[in-house]
Amino acid sequence: YRQTLQMRRDYIGKSCKLHFEVAPIKIVRGSKQYLYDDTGQEFLDCVNNTSHVGHCHPHVVSAGQEQMAKLTSSFGFLNDQTALYAKRLISTLPETLCVCFFVSSGSEGNDLALRLAASYTKRHDVICLDGAYHGNLGTLVEISPVRHRKNHQIKDWVHIAPTPNTYRGKLDSSAPNPGPLYANEVRKIIQKAKQNGREIGAFISEPVITASGIVVPPENYFAHVYNYVHESGGVCISDEVQCGLGRCGEHFWGFQMHNVVPDIVTIGKPIANGYPLAAVITTKEIADSLTDFSSTFGGNPVACAIGRAVLDVIENEKLTSSAKNVGKCLKDGFKAIQHKHPMIGDVRGVGMLVGVELVMDKTSKKPAKESAEILAYKLKEKKIIIGIEGADKNVLVLLPPLCFTTDNARFVVQNFSEALA
Ligand code: PMP
Repeated sequence: YRQTLQMRRDYIGKSCKLHFEVAPIKIVRGSKQYLYDDTGQEFLDCVNNTSHVGHCHPHVVSAGQEQMAKLTSSFGFLNDQTALYAKRLISTLPETLCVCFFVSSGSEGNDLALRLAASYTKRHDVICLDGAYHGNLGTLVEISPVRHRKNHQIKDWVHIAPTPNTYRGKLDSSAPNPGPLYANEVRKIIQKAKQNGREIGAFISEPVITASGIVVPPENYFAHVYNYVHESGGVCISDEVQCGLGRCGEHFWGFQMHNVVPDIVTIGKPIANGYPLAAVITTKEIADSLTDFSSTFGGNPVACAIGRAVLDVIENEKLTSSAKNVGKCLKDGFKAIQHKHPMIGDVRGVGMLVGVELVMDKTSKKPAKESAEILAYKLKEKKIIIGIEGADKNVLVLLPPLCFTTDNARFVVQNFSEALA
């Protein structure tokens, strides 16, 4: 452990943060919703939404191993795995979204989505939300204000709209129709840009704003925003890197719960259960507007064989409805303890995406950042790994592998309550 920690500190960039920076866990093995450290201790993993169907799921492992032994790279050649997977992934989407591009990370996917939007609309301006995170590439750093805004000047092609957060945003949930009211902010941005001689090419958002601490936009927000953007000639991108593939429960894709159809969808993290793979799916017209694209590792046969196996497991084990039911149990559990704890300001989420916002008190809603961190460390002592998100780093977030059970949910809520007390 010490040697690994020292090597990490000597050779890896300081800005690459670990969970529990002060005393990181050395993980050597994963199975289902559990992680095991180098001393054999078992941790309940509540944050790893990349190992979507469970760590090292045997069906996924054997699909990968089998393909790995046959062919790992088919770049520039025809291969069944890539074609079959594209067809299968597209079959989960509305019929307008019928062309797929493969890359290796969510960031590459969002960068490509912006390129596609620009090539189709011939406009480069983008609207993003102030609580957004879309990735680590140059373009995405510019449109991920929640993490990067403090560091530099906002670029002239970036237009920032308020995150529709009804707990601590501009408008609370008691305002009549907060969704359309927040959407109106986007309309104003489009108009103002026009007055300044700029045209919006794309609007990008997650269906649930995870980086803001699992903020679920109010009803009709996206329906209105998508109308305004389309009316003005722009396209809408749904970043499903965290929310897609059944995580929101009930619906396979996050945008479906908002009754909208995006022009471009991006997906990364969960699609290959931790193996690097991401995809951008769009309409034929938008796809055909880009004349040249290549990605060496994007859509390699191993990643695609794994991707198909992940879809098999989601279907066979009915993980989308499990995300709905177990997620409800988790959220209801936190709601039930909220009145006992003056520090639990808000409990929110959908499916297996749950956020618990800690505040100093419920009236001032002052973010309790330090307490959130202490609580995460206390839960680690209880062998539960939980994440922290939000602009003020005061929202405890849970996005576990979808094999998480109702017993796991009850266990987490009980321990959370004890630790917070
Ligand atoms: N979009 C969202 C919503 C994300 O949460 C992330 C990663 N946390 C990304 C894009 C970038 O994905 P990656 O780290 O695979 O590049």
